[in-house]
Amino acid sequence: MIVQDRKELEVKCSPVSVKEGEEIGVRLLHELRESENGIGLAANQIGINKRVCVINVKEPLVLINPKIVEKSKEKFVFPEGCLSFPDSKVKTIRHESIVVEADNHKGRLSFSANSKDINDAFECVCVQHEIDHLDGITMFEREFKAEPLVRGKNAPVKIGRNEKVTITKGTESKVLKYKKAQPMLEDGWTLSI
Ligand SMILES: [Zn+2]
Repeated sequence: MIVQDRKELEVKCSPVSVKEGEEIGVRLLHELRESENGIGLAANQIGINKRVCVINVKEPLVLINPKIVEKSKEKFVFPEGCLSFPDSKVKTIRHESIVVEADNHKGRLSFSANSKDINDAFECVCVQHEIDHLDGITMFEREFKAEPLVRGKNAPVKIGRNEKVTITKGTESKVLKYKKAQPMLEDGWTLSI
């Protein structure tokens, strides 16, 4: 059963031992496989308030007590969904690249949307989405608001020429720099914001 209560999902998760984390990871991957189109799941989404999440975009990845230790200044807009809110889609703003440490991984793990492979963007966003869950943050809090496009001192976010955006045309989607996306917008592509 996936937790759908927003209040319940706003509780911060507690650290866990690697052994317990691995057991939770197995359960999470199982739940994820049972889900329709799920690419990531956090323990609190199945009612366990412990810092474990799984991501399955390119290959299954379990993160125990994960921490984002580096994040790029560059951000990009991406359409997101969540297994806890199956009827919602949110255009979020996320870091273009991050470095993560987790207790069950010796080295640092790097994720970057700066790639030709759209799966890299999915994975990079998914890791940020799942680690947010562990901190009691849902995708709604990362929503990219259209207003910030209006330039002004109160605009918290502007799309810079070198910022990554997601554009779509039919079933195709691409992540690329805004300056490269601009001419394509006149060619039937639409900006996902
Ligand atoms: Zn989610």
